[in-house]
Amino acid sequence: MNEELFQEDAYLKQCEAVVSTVDEQTGSFTVTRTNFYPTGGGQPGDTGVAFDSSDREIRITDTQRNRATGFIDHFVEIPSQLPQVGDDLYMEIDWERRHRLMRIHSCLHLLCAVIPGRVTGAQVYDGRGRVDFDTAEPFEKNQLSYSLNLLVQQNAECRILSYSMSELNQNPGLLDSLSVPVPPVEGQVRLIHFDGIDIQPCGGTHVANTEEIGRVKVTKIESKGKHNRRISVVLDD
Ligand SMILES: [Zn+2]
Repeated sequence: MNEELFQEDAYLKQCEAVVSTVDEQTGSFTVTRTNFYPTGGGQPGDTGVAFDSSDREIRITDTQRNRATGFIDHFVEIPSQLPQVGDDLYMEIDWERRHRLMRIHSCLHLLCAVIPGRVTGAQVYDGRGRVDFDTAEPFEKNQLSYSLNLLVQQNAECRILSYSMSELNQNPGLLDSLSVPVPPVEGQVRLIHFDGIDIQPCGGTHVANTEEIGRVKVTKIESKGKHNRRISVVLDD
């Protein structure tokens, strides 16, 4: 069992879990359930802390999905502090950092609604982020900032939808409206819908409504080739 609590509740700051496996080689461990988001979809993995039943503090400096097992590895700062299999843990993410990541990540979804072009890449950092679009159009920083902030102020709700591939294929209108193509997955596709603004497949963590993103500013527009515009944005408060 490796329950991924952040999938349903991006606001879960703490959780209780039991250690499933420990890897001394990499200095990491897995748990029965976790609120720590692993690096993926352009969003960095969570950092935070775990406490064992003796109130011993274990600092977690990175979270990654293990390619071989598919489980979520929590990397500790000091390998000698690794917990043991079967230990009970109280896990706490660095919420301030995660919330900034959620705000920027959500803002990048709004950017997809503002720019008419296929997304070819995206990266979220703490307090800033960027998206690459397949487009040759020129853009203007202040105009993009203005458009983004208008969308933020719409206070549009974020909903998580789940579709099977066959449901999606029966719904070509929905498929056409996605900002990024559906990744080749089996089973269910997780779609993130900012009401009336943007819908796309995404596995990351998002704010509950756009107003929570706060004021944002487009800082850079770069041409990375003829048909590529890289747009960089920061939290502006
Ligand atoms: Zn997303």
